[in-house]
Amino acid sequence: MPQLITLQLTPKQAADAKFYTSQAARRMGIVEADVALVRVVKRSIDARQRQVKVNLTLEVYVDREPQPGPVYFDYPSVEGRTEVVIVGSGPAGLFAALRLIELGLRPVILERGRDVSARKRDIAQINRNGVVDPDSNYAFGEGGAGTFSDGKLFTRSKKRGDYNKALQTLVFHGATPEIFFEAHPHIGTDKLPGIMQHIRQTIVGAGGVFRFGSRVTDLKIADDRICGVWCGDELIEGAAVVLATGHSARDIYELLHRRGVRVEAKPFAMGVRIEHPQALIDSIQYHQETRGEYLPAASYSLVSQENGRGVYSFCMCPGGFIVPAMTDAAESVVNGMSPSGRTSPYANSGLVTEVRLADFGHLRAEWGELAGLKFQQQFEGDGNLDQTLNKLAI
Ligand SMILES: Cc1cc2nc3c(=O)[nH]c(=O)nc-3n(C[C@H](O)[C@H](O)[C@H](O)COP(=O)(O)OP(=O)(O)OC[C@H]3O[C@@H](n4cnc5c(N)ncnc54)[C@H](O)[C@@H]3O)c2cc1C
Repeated sequence: MPQLITLQLTPKQAADAKFYTSQAARRMGIVEADVALVRVVKRSIDARQRQVKVNLTLEVYVDREPQPGPVYFDYPSVEGRTEVVIVGSGPAGLFAALRLIELGLRPVILERGRDVSARKRDIAQINRNGVVDPDSNYAFGEGGAGTFSDGKLFTRSKKRGDYNKALQTLVFHGATPEIFFEAHPHIGTDKLPGIMQHIRQTIVGAGGVFRFGSRVTDLKIADDRICGVWCGDELIEGAAVVLATGHSARDIYELLHRRGVRVEAKPFAMGVRIEHPQALIDSIQYHQETRGEYLPAASYSLVSQENGRGVYSFCMCPGGFIVPAMTDAAESVVNGMSPSGRTSPYANSGLVTEVRLADFGHLRAEWGELAGLKFQQQFEGDGNLDQTLNKLAI
């Protein structure tokens, strides 16, 4: 059995494998030459004191002890097997497809947008000319909103199960194994498109089907079950239909509502994104003028109550960029991302407030369960920041 050793080190020592291996050996009372493998299993930064420390938990294997192998998944062939239709190739759709393959079922993925390579060109058009293709943008296309997202893999939610298999799946498809042990694992927007392409290769290699440019416009409902979908005038049927169309597909919520499928308005959060010089955040969080060579771009998390309403930072992106994430040129929607090295001189973060059912109660009479969507659309639609801020002072 490997031994677990936790060390508290300076950032420089924590970056030096030779140093921490010798420290671990000393702690175990063995000579360094007897150490066969040292694996970092947890790394977190403690910046509460003036001298920033790195907490490193190591798994130490000594000679002749069986060592862990690389992550491997064996996806069986599902050629000719029962088909399940998945609408949307975002993270939810892709992981559903991989799971179906493990269960011996053939996923048929319908995606309104384009593949990653074509999508990169569409995104360049948004950034350069403000031209938004409603089917291929930061939210829609292969990999969904996940492809050009930041790739932070942690949540403040307490309601989470075992997510290790998700991390292993990402590493198997090209993510850095560091995501296994970082306290705040992050993939980075430069790495995600390649990972999404690898997942597609796995799915297609096992016999699954990808259809780009296939926007679902209607549902086939029989005996209270969705048994197929329409893409324009083409019907695609399957033993089951998985709707994985994500948060931005308002047309799907409207379709479900129109076709009598139960949808329910829920409270949500809404706000603005703020940007600061990264050096400012570093100096505040690390109590020193510059973060130096061994510390990552610093992040922060804010939580407050204002007039009895929760206000909090969300999706903070150290060393990142703010991106236009709308699906329609008339909307004003932003999000944040950062490359794996978090090298941008700017930090940004969402600052959001809770939106309660009562806040959009006045829209209920006209829009019913879609009132929250319409409320959100009112803010995003006018694209006027001053008006938006005034409206947010609810
Ligand atoms: C810039 C940015 C940064 C982000 N950073 C993070 C982060 O760091 N960490 C994090 O956890 N989350 C982050 N997110 C959010 C994260 O990307 C989403 O929560 C996630 O992608 C949701 O996955 P999903 O599969 O449910 O939906 P989506 O990713 O939205 O995918 C839905 C897919 O369905 C397709 N679709 C929609 N309608 C139809 C239709 N009618 N027919 C066919 N296909 C359709 C869309 O084209 C899309 O590909 C970020 C998002 C953005 C935009």
